Amino acid sequence: MIDKNINKIRSDIPNYVELIAISKTKPNEDIMKAYMNGHRSFGENKIQEMSIKFEELPKDIIWHMVGHVQSNKIKYMAPYVNLIHGVDSFKSIKIINKEGQKNNRILNCLLQLKISEEDSKFGLEANSIKKIIFSDEYDQMKNVKIRGIMAMATNTKNKDIIRNEFIYAKHIFDEISAIDNNFEILSMGMSNDYHIAIECGSNMIRLGSLIFGERNY
Ligand SMILES: *Cc1c(COP(=O)(O)O)cnc(C)c1O
Repeated sequence: MIDKNINKIRSDIPNYVELIAISKTKPNEDIMKAYMNGHRSFGENKIQEMSIKFEELPKDIIWHMVGHVQSNKIKYMAPYVNLIHGVDSFKSIKIINKEGQKNNRILNCLLQLKISEEDSKFGLEANSIKKIIFSDEYDQMKNVKIRGIMAMATNTKNKDIIRNEFIYAKHIFDEISAIDNNFEILSMGMSNDYHIAIECGSNMIRLGSLIFGERNY
């Protein structure tokens, strides 16, 4: 099932869209089914779970942290994480840079743009994102690279609301990427809204339940 699901999604999306398989709460054998089918990019939202899976699974897996980033947890992912999606403070950027230095790595991250009206969604306003990216302080940092934007739409059946939020994210993404060469990833789209996200310009989608089935927590 899992490999069929991935094949179906892949055949269904443009080549330039990167598919991240969100494996949170799912066992290693599920991840290995996707791995045996050639898939390498997986995402988790809890650092402890991701680190255990990193230890136990093949080392050529590309790990994405898609959960909200707590600054005190960054040190645990710094040695191996490939992309940190949910960064929403300058404080975290500074710590990511410091941990990157300690590990002799350049850590890639995305700033989370707030596009939803829901209180529960984390994220920065567009102005705060620009302030960080065009600051002298960030310019001096050698071990962190902000590669783009991550955004989550409102959890609603109303496609117009979702579409408008994604269009807004693409607009902000275009403004910054026109100036900043490192800015090339727009991570938006989950199982329920990835078609709309791609229509609106997403080039990275994060799919969990559509690949692995519903999660029971
Ligand atoms: C869980 C999660 C996903 C995947 O959600 P599905 O609806 O199962 O596709 C994507 N992004 C983030 C940030 C998540 O936490």
